[in-house]
Amino acid sequence: MSNRTIVMFAVEKKPLIVSLCLGGVTEYVAPPLRALELHGQDMPHRFELIPMPASRERVSLLAVDRAVSELRRGRSVVVRGAAGEAALIAAAEAVTPDVLVEMHNVSHNQPSLAITARRASVLGITETEAAAVILSSTEAWQAETVLRLADPLSPMISDIKKYPGIDAGTYSCATGAVGLAKLARLLPAALVSNITNPDADDLDGWCVRHGLLIVDAGDVFQYEHTAARTLKAVSDAKVPLEGAEDTKIVAFRPIDGGLEHLAIVIGMPGGEKGDEAVLARLHSECFTGDLLGSLRCDCGDQLRGAINEIAKSGGGVLLYLAQEGRGIGLVNKLRAYGLQDSGFDTMDANEQLGFDADERVYLPAAEMLRLLGYSSVRLMTNNPDKIEALAACGVDVVERVAHAFPSNRHNEGYLKTKAAKGGHLI
Ligand SMILES: [Zn+2]
Repeated sequence: MSNRTIVMFAVEKKPLIVSLCLGGVTEYVAPPLRALELHGQDMPHRFELIPMPASRERVSLLAVDRAVSELRRGRSVVVRGAAGEAALIAAAEAVTPDVLVEMHNVSHNQPSLAITARRASVLGITETEAAAVILSSTEAWQAETVLRLADPLSPMISDIKKYPGIDAGTYSCATGAVGLAKLARLLPAALVSNITNPDADDLDGWCVRHGLLIVDAGDVFQYEHTAARTLKAVSDAKVPLEGAEDTKIVAFRPIDGGLEHLAIVIGMPGGEKGDEAVLARLHSECFTGDLLGSLRCDCGDQLRGAINEIAKSGGGVLLYLAQEGRGIGLVNKLRAYGLQDSGFDTMDANEQLGFDADERVYLPAAEMLRLLGYSSVRLMTNNPDKIEALAACGVDVVERVAHAFPSNRHNEGYLKTKAAKGGHLI
């Protein structure tokens, strides 16, 4: 064990929690991964993963990035599971009659529909601890049926019993397919057609012949971890801000050129000598709140308030994280708003869509702090989960600094839900 990084990994429940012991990792027994359960019943989603060597990180991220692009274009890709099984998959949101015909022509099998356990629960299909559920249908799938099962904003299916569900394996192709759809910021659902054709024994050659990209399910599960581990500072500049003129913005990018995160470094973080805990704020980007001044949330106030507070205190850092809508993306956030307008609260709306109430990960934040040389922080937050997640990533959180702003008539309910259900200390 001594030469391994222990990765506390949660597919479904919580953000990935990873120790940032980055050195000395030499072993990688995959593709796609080897997982051993560590703690039994009380931590059913946590596993030890053996991280890939640095030489494989770029290939791993690239395979996932390319697969994500294909899914967003409505194209199918092949996911290879841990035991060598494989499936042709397509994002439910992008399924059309043509996609269904093409999937059948290539795989010659009737697909299943993989959805998250949360979506299966709100549809009344099953309650399970599994991350994903596989729905079958006795009839050929219609594109409209697929969309209705995946999208809570489309009309409900009248006879849900026609689509029984079974648990998908933790590291199966189906769970990987749902994970890919999430990474693509699409609805978390995918058609999955097992590839059983003997012609596909040489899977790589078969994919080349059919013009299909292939991705290992393990690379999907490790994607956010790998992307965070490979963040590098790629540019920085002085950007004087209103109320915080001594400000520098540092941009971080993962090795594959994926999502960039920003560190807004104000004044003298850590005091004159730089040896004190750094006043820090983690802010997840919110296009509507940060840029447009939306009154549906409190993000704009929190962003500008944090910058002012940090400047007033003499210095600190605000990490601006590219995880819109608590990690579900802008399009899905707008869908969640639509659901909220029909009566769901902010967390129930996410769950109707099939997402966790909070899909954010704080690994990039921890890695940026490490790269900036800040090992201990005073965290401006009302969210105890952030403290726990950062601490689990190896950042010493020495103090919580309260950070709340008055509500308005549009975001009162949103703030109450964050306090009642999200445990926020407002
Ligand atoms: Zn917001």
